[in-house]
Amino acid sequence: MKILLNQEELDAGVERLAREINETYGNRPLTIVGVLTGSFILMADLIRKLEMPLRVGVVQTSSYEGTERGALSINSEMMLDIAGRDVVLIDDIFDTGNTLQEVTQLMKSLGPNSLKSAVLLLKTGRQEVDWVPEFVAFDIPDEFVVGYGLDFNDEYRNLPFLACLEPADLPDTES
Ligand code: 5GP
Ligand code: MG
Repeated sequence: MKILLNQEELDAGVERLAREINETYGNRPLTIVGVLTGSFILMADLIRKLEMPLRVGVVQTSSYEGTERGALSINSEMMLDIAGRDVVLIDDIFDTGNTLQEVTQLMKSLGPNSLKSAVLLLKTGRQEVDWVPEFVAFDIPDEFVVGYGLDFNDEYRNLPFLACLEPADLPDTES
């Protein structure tokens, strides 16, 4: 496994995100909606650096099986009421952008006052949608990454750094 971003670098990136969000909203109340499961560590670190009155909710999506994309499902049962609120959607990574695009569409239909998104990572050159999140901590190359919340088959989320998963790390897929 190759380390792409160490703990110190991740912390500096989260600090940058927090500063931009604090500057954008000032003391206006904000609603954060984290996309589970990948954003839970970013969310925990980020919200403790935000200074405005804050409400925190989650929405769950899943789209990957291993490193292959499966069908996207969205579970919004645990999301807060966002009507009339300023909302920032938080996710771990913006890859094709399809996940956040679908979640954003769902959320817009609930009538927020404003809606922006923040991600830890943006994979360069992979986007299939015509927008990018307003707040991005790092641009990274097109490699499959794990750690700091991101998984491979539900493992590795607890790594305190971000690493590239290399072929030697993958389970034997011969059949
Ligand atoms: P998108 O819809 O933007 O293509 O993909 C977004 C979701 O796919 C992310 O929230 C994340 O769960 C997953 N994903 C995309 N790239 C990676 C990656 O390199 N590593 C991991 N662990 N998940 C990824
Ligand atoms: Mg995700």
